[in-house]
Amino acid sequence: MQSALVSGGNGFLGYYLVTKLVKEKYDVTVVDDLSTSKDISYGDEVTFVRKRIEDFVSKVHFDLVAHLASRPSPEDYSMNPVATLMSNSTGTIRMLDIARESGALFFYTSSSEVYGNAQVIPTPESYNGYVSPNGIRSCYDEGKRFSEAIAMAYHRQYGLDVRIERPFNVYGPRIREDGLYGRVIPRFISQALKEENITVHGKGDQTRSFLYVDDWLEASWRFIVSPDGSGEVLNVGSEKEFTVLELAQKIKALTGSSSGIEHTEKRIDDPERRSADIGKAKKLLNWEPRTSLEDGVEKTINWFRLRSK
Ligand code: UDP
Repeated sequence: MQSALVSGGNGFLGYYLVTKLVKEKYDVTVVDDLSTSKDISYGDEVTFVRKRIEDFVSKVHFDLVAHLASRPSPEDYSMNPVATLMSNSTGTIRMLDIARESGALFFYTSSSEVYGNAQVIPTPESYNGYVSPNGIRSCYDEGKRFSEAIAMAYHRQYGLDVRIERPFNVYGPRIREDGLYGRVIPRFISQALKEENITVHGKGDQTRSFLYVDDWLEASWRFIVSPDGSGEVLNVGSEKEFTVLELAQKIKALTGSSSGIEHTEKRIDDPERRSADIGKAKKLLNWEPRTSLEDGVEKTINWFRLRSK
């Protein structure tokens, strides 16, 4: 039986990866401090350790170490910059050392945030980014960038099989919508379902490309098992770019809500445009997203509706 360690295994993406690993008959250990996630009753195949990843120690042999632990929401991570930097620096080193002790494959979910306020759209992996080293988002951006650097250092110096993924705004059922944790899609859905105003920051002309979680999982799994994945950095996202205002209008229409659209204060350092160049993933993984924004948002709305019953 193969074994895997998943940091952040109780988070939104973590849940999908852990479930897939269990299906693939892996013996899974999850380390998660539940700082932004809730307890999940996984089956007996999953050992759960509630700990900060920086403090995690293990003598178990792992074939795969997947490092997902991080606070992903800008409003939340900018309130918790130290914890965010710790899980993406000391935490990453801890996960890399565990992978190295076992000779495991190391899979890291970096982020499209490494590009910052990208000046090249759609953005390919070869673009080096436009990032503030000390701005409000730097705890996340620079944490992800440091993690990529140290992971590649382990790859080059110790020959570790390292695979770095840069997901672009993944969404779907199970994603949090509440408080500081709510990313734009779940927050707009929740507002629309409650007939509250949909809070568009600024004019809403900033853009994102959104990826449905099933497409993310498919790409991630193909990347993990690819014979050609070692030492690669890969964008995993959608080529379709939408403004935040278009998103708000779509969600209003798809929910049939009578919510108004309220323009609120723009976030500091909010990237103006984000869109993925996925040419490399298409070639390496023979993958592209299958779910349209409408279909993905509809599935997510249905999940929120069922959950509130
Ligand atoms: N956004 C918004 N209203 C909200 C939440 C987010 O207009 O209530 C915008 C936010 O300013 C950003 C985009 O939606 O331009 C995506 O924000 P999110 O928090 O999902 O994450 P990001 O892509 O910035 O990491």
